[in-house]
Amino acid sequence: MIKRFIRRVLGLQAEGALRLGRDKHGLSRDALHPSAAKVCAVLRDGGFAAYVVGGAVRDLLLGIEPKDFDIATDARPEQIKPLFRRAIIIGRRFRLVHVMMGGETVEVSTFRGADPHAAEKDEHGRVLHDNVFGTQEQDARRRDFTINALYFDPATEEVVDFHGGLADLKKRRLSMIGDPDTRYREDPVRMLRAVRLAGKLALTIEPATRGPIRSLAPLIERVPPARLFDEMLKLLLSGHASACLRQLRDVGLHQGLLPLLDVILEQPLGERFVTLALAQTDERVLAERPVSPAFLFAALLWHEVLAAWKARQKRGERPIPALETAMDEVLDTQCAKLAITRKLTATMREVWSMQPRFEMRSGQRAYRLLEAPRFRMAYDFLALRAASGEVPAEFEAWWRAFQSADAEARQAMLLPETAPRKRRRRRRKKLPAAASQAA
Ligand code: ATP
Ligand code: MG
Repeated sequence: MIKRFIRRVLGLQAEGALRLGRDKHGLSRDALHPSAAKVCAVLRDGGFAAYVVGGAVRDLLLGIEPKDFDIATDARPEQIKPLFRRAIIIGRRFRLVHVMMGGETVEVSTFRGADPHAAEKDEHGRVLHDNVFGTQEQDARRRDFTINALYFDPATEEVVDFHGGLADLKKRRLSMIGDPDTRYREDPVRMLRAVRLAGKLALTIEPATRGPIRSLAPLIERVPPARLFDEMLKLLLSGHASACLRQLRDVGLHQGLLPLLDVILEQPLGERFVTLALAQTDERVLAERPVSPAFLFAALLWHEVLAAWKARQKRGERPIPALETAMDEVLDTQCAKLAITRKLTATMREVWSMQPRFEMRSGQRAYRLLEAPRFRMAYDFLALRAASGEVPAEFEAWWRAFQSADAEARQAMLLPETAPRKRRRRRRKKLPAAASQAA
């Protein structure tokens, strides 16, 4: 006790861990998912230590339902696998085990002991390889934040705390383990994780942890685009995207992420649009309704597309080809840093390129648009544009009414045909049966 006190006063790393009983933290083994509890029990019966660790412990202590349960153990992958009927070893650099149990996949990792001094790094301090097994204490030290380094032992209902995570959790404080500057350099994604966790869990980023982010922000550019995309998606779909983006701005991390987010947020019209899109997304996530990442990314980048589109039209390009090239331009810039998947960009393009078609509210064009496979998403997008004041509200109202109207009412709503005859004739052939009947 005295020794620990002296070490703390001297600012030294805690020696060993605090093992805190249930009376100190209130977490019961009953709160675990049965599969996670079972995996721990099996490992323990096999003679190994087994803890629930990371996000799950943190979330449970905060009274939030965890997304998944990670288990940490002193057993090696080849010792873990035979204990379970359905288990596979995955990962090449650092091997871990996926145990399939009761429809769930539980991830079981052996304690990791990367020595950050010995690890191979790039010239900015980013760790390139760390793949050695280690002790529980080492495993705790290589985790990012104190609140993410809590181990819950279902057998004893004790929480093992090496870095004061429990105290930080009680104060709703996010603190980096070790020297924040070094830890961000090792893995710049930790900056994004700090923002996401703070936004999602309403935590304050402790000053020393927050301090270096602004100046280290450019290191984000060195993170592989696919990983950046994954992290950004997690952030946007956290149910607290608005709060997270506010945090991103506050800590000075928004530049270079969605490279153009900065610009977007500075345009008054764009800001309103993005804010609305994020609020809508958060609402859906919290209500456990499905959210389309394509819709969200399309929204985040729309005002960039608009700006590029307008610039091209000003230079004399025709509207539709100009929109096509504007979309290419924006997506190329984005994907260089943030690898938005192809499936997503295809949908984003569809939604964007349908927007000008909403302006044509005459006969066959209106029916054709209504039949388009992405109509619903494109219409929701139009509604967002109207709500942000970008297009007249009357547009959206017309399309809303048109969708739900019967054939006769639809017919009466149509505006007179204004397009040149030639194109009208060419497209008439493709008219869907229902539409030609109504026409
Ligand atoms: P989420 O609720 O999003 O799942 P999480 O904290 O569980 O949050 P995961 O990506 O599932 O995030 O990671 C599990 C654990 O692994 C973390 O709690 C943390 O201990 C550790 N970890 C994850 N990413 C890093 C990182 N970049 N650096 C250090 N430790 C990390
Ligand atoms: Mg997790």
